[in-house]
Amino acid sequence: MASPDRPARVAGQPSRPVLVIGGGIMGLWAALKVARAGFAVTLAERGRVGQGASGGLLGALMAHMPDRWNEKKQFQFEALLSLEDEIVRLESETGMASGYRRSGRLIPLPKPHLREIALGHERDARQVWQAPGRGFEWRVVDEAMFGEGWPQAHYRASGLVFDTLAGRVFPRSVTALVRAGLQALTHVTLLEGVGIRAIDARNFKALCENGDEIAFSHVIVAGGVEAFRLIEGLRPWTGKPLGMGVKGQSALLRAPVDPALPLIYLEGLYVVPHEGGMVAIGSTSENSFDAPFTTDGQVQALIERATEMVPALEGAEVVERWAGLRPKAIGRDPMVGAHPEFPQVIALGGGFKVSFGIAHKLAEAACAALKGEDMRVPESFHLARHLEMAASKR
Ligand SMILES: Cc1cc2nc3c(=O)[nH]c(=O)nc-3n(C[C@H](O)[C@H](O)[C@H](O)COP(=O)(O)OP(=O)(O)OC[C@H]3O[C@@H](n4cnc5c(N)ncnc54)[C@H](O)[C@@H]3O)c2cc1C
Repeated sequence: MASPDRPARVAGQPSRPVLVIGGGIMGLWAALKVARAGFAVTLAERGRVGQGASGGLLGALMAHMPDRWNEKKQFQFEALLSLEDEIVRLESETGMASGYRRSGRLIPLPKPHLREIALGHERDARQVWQAPGRGFEWRVVDEAMFGEGWPQAHYRASGLVFDTLAGRVFPRSVTALVRAGLQALTHVTLLEGVGIRAIDARNFKALCENGDEIAFSHVIVAGGVEAFRLIEGLRPWTGKPLGMGVKGQSALLRAPVDPALPLIYLEGLYVVPHEGGMVAIGSTSENSFDAPFTTDGQVQALIERATEMVPALEGAEVVERWAGLRPKAIGRDPMVGAHPEFPQVIALGGGFKVSFGIAHKLAEAACAALKGEDMRVPESFHLARHLEMAASKR
């Protein structure tokens, strides 16, 4: 198979499509943004859309802390604001729901020194969590604002932080939503069951695992954990790995919990109320593992910790246990932008633990890179910086 045999041209654009590799949250937003910009797009997904890390259960939209503000935090802040409009637009175009809600976040403060730190952040938030016409709070509270058991008293011995910026989406609903938005566009070809083995950048084609080839004008590499290997494979590679997968396990419980309640976050433990009487619990963060996609006793330990903190989860049915690999780029920052030697190859990924809140804005950056425009992302996100880091000696 060569490129799709229908005309790939949209008026005034090159005759080859933009190829997006990977149908996770990054690739889906990229395909949508590029298609909306008027380019013909082919999205190639090895299995089915949303089968990777983006097919998980948690979907927390966690704002970075308001202290030591920098351009990365500002980028995420703006992304968390603009996501709302993106979701509203897609929901009204498709009639589907994403499970989005700016429900906020509670952070229990079990010890007095944590309260002191939180009060400092409360002041920081007043300065930096501000946008025209709206502001968000990192407020230290003493009362059980959301009921005695959310979380139970022992956990809020020194109060609670109530953060009004955070929210959540349901990952599988949001991937289905963006997919539906894409499929409504006529100049998008969605190829599921098509894995890309390698990119032949010099000849502007991708080599498929089944022996076929797909010609492209540009390729956006959004293959999650595999994106690193695809980019490394563009030329002989002698550096450190461009990124890695960090395993995470989580669970979905059926419990009588109000979906409007804020999510709770304490030392790596997330309790995220979703619509329809579901509560997601997460997550482990494992750098070494034998079985990336299977759960083990660690997820049970998370459920037990969560139940101790939130008695409403006592006896809840565990609907699903799930494990996946988060793509973490070298240096930990997201990775986006054109390859310095092959500008037709654009990276998009490495969002690690915050992808759902920023993917749409990173996708805009990838689209800008494709057009040769300024990406308007922090310098440390640029693929070129990641390549330098990977090439540098320790
Ligand atoms: C347990 C857990 C909890 C998490 N919680 C949160 C959270 O609360 N909030 C948050 O924002 N993030 C969270 N994350 C992180 C988030 O899920 C990921 O950062 C995000 O889904 C990555 O999206 P992606 O599109 O880059 O990769 P993926 O979703 O992995 O998508 C990559 C896609 O590319 C396809 N692919 C790969 N290689 C090829 C190839 N060669 N050819 C064709 N297709 C290919 C794959 O099949 C896959 O579908 C969590 C992750 C885990 C594991």
